[in-house]
Order: sequence, then C-alpha cells, then structure tokens
Amino acid sequence: MKLTIIGPWGGYPKANEASAGYILEHEGFKLLIDCGSGVLSKLQTILEPEHLDGVIISHYHADHIADIGVLQHARLIQGFLGKKMDNLPIYAHDINAEKFSVLTYKEVTKGIPYQPGEVLQVGPFSVTFQKTNHPVECYAMRFEAGGRSLIYTGDTSFKEELVAFSKNADILLCECNFYGDQNGSNAGHMTSFDSGKLANVASVGQLILTHLPHYGRLEQLKEEAATIYKGPIQLAQFGLTVTL
Ligand code: ZN
Repeated sequence: MKLTIIGPWGGYPKANEASAGYILEHEGFKLLIDCGSGVLSKLQTILEPEHLDGVIISHYHADHIADIGVLQHARLIQGFLGKKMDNLPIYAHDINAEKFSVLTYKEVTKGIPYQPGEVLQVGPFSVTFQKTNHPVECYAMRFEAGGRSLIYTGDTSFKEELVAFSKNADILLCECNFYGDQNGSNAGHMTSFDSGKLANVASVGQLILTHLPHYGRLEQLKEEAATIYKGPIQLAQFGLTVTL
C-alpha cells in the first residue's frame, strides 16, 4: 500500500498547491481520496488523470470536491484525443442528492453511492466508514489491503467512535486544522492535541497531520501532537509518500 500526498491544506490551497487530495495505490490500482482545489494540477506531476482507477469522496465541502468538474473535463478531452478509458467510478455518500448527482458526467465518470454501514470493495481495498462530527455529512474511511490499513479521518472534531474505528491502523492520516490552544469542535475540526490523542489511544503505527491551517508555525502542530503520541509523526506536504 502506497500513500502519496497531493493536497495538505484545509479550506483552500496555498499558491501553487492543493487542498485535500491523496493517492492510495495497491497492486497497480490508483485511488484518489478527495479531490479538492488544485488537486488536478498537482496530481499531473505524479500521474495522468486518465490513469486513475477510482475516486472516493469524504464530503461535499469545496476544499474536498472543487476539482471534480475539471477531472471530468480532463478525462473527456483525453478521450477525444484518442485515449481509451473506462467510466471512472466516484464513490461518495448520496445523502445530498443534488451534490451526488454531479459525480456522474456523460460516459466519463459515474457516481456510486457508498453505504456507510457496509464494507465497500474498491479494487484491492476494503473500505469501511465512520460518520464524523462536521457541519455537513462526512465520513472517515478505513482502507485495508494486503494486511495493511490506513485511516483517513476526513473532516471532524474529536469523536470517541474514531478510536475503535482507527484501532491499530498502520497509518492515521488525520486532519489537524487547529493548534493546541484553540478549540476546533464548533467548526468540526481537530486540534494537534486531539490528533495526538486519537493516534495514541488507537495505537496506530504512524501519524500524518493534514488539512493544515494557513497560519502559525506548522512544526508546532507536530510538537504538540508528540506530547501525547510517541510514535512517528509527519506533516503532510505535496509529494510525501509512505509505503507500507
Ligand atoms: Zn469540511
């Protein structure tokens, strides 16, 4: 299982960067997790959009879905130019029917609803879901393949159910939108201390902090999480890869 960070920023991307987007690969299958602003541009320095095998979406905030439309255009135009591609599956919840409907576009992409209580098989990945605490319906995801596991929290404030959901995962890709002296719970986000606590009590193998704030000293997030979680911690940044 190989994780590549495309977009580490919360809310909107920094100049020439991207908000939420991650590539998860196993046995040649390339899954894009979230598709925020700037993701399509940054992704192309790593792989061609026509080489994606699937997309999965945590929720319908712009910093997680803004580039869905341009991903559809990219595959449409490359199809006109003669590249052969399958209809790309985009997995998402369909609780917001209007948002879900735009995931299906011509014969280019097809929206497929996931059922949060059921296991979803996407290529080699078994995916399970946990509803998060966020102003709109959002799901954390647990990806299992080849005996390895990765948790992506999506956007959420700290929630007790995330502990069992994340238990013993090899990687916790954890949102961390606030510093330790702030309170993220009203906004539906975690602080550095929340991220460290989740990593610690869930006994994960390593912690990657993502959905980062646009202010302050980012290293402080790591330092604060490290006061609680004693395993390896990294800040997400474009191009960071972790292979298990
Ligand atoms: Zn959000």
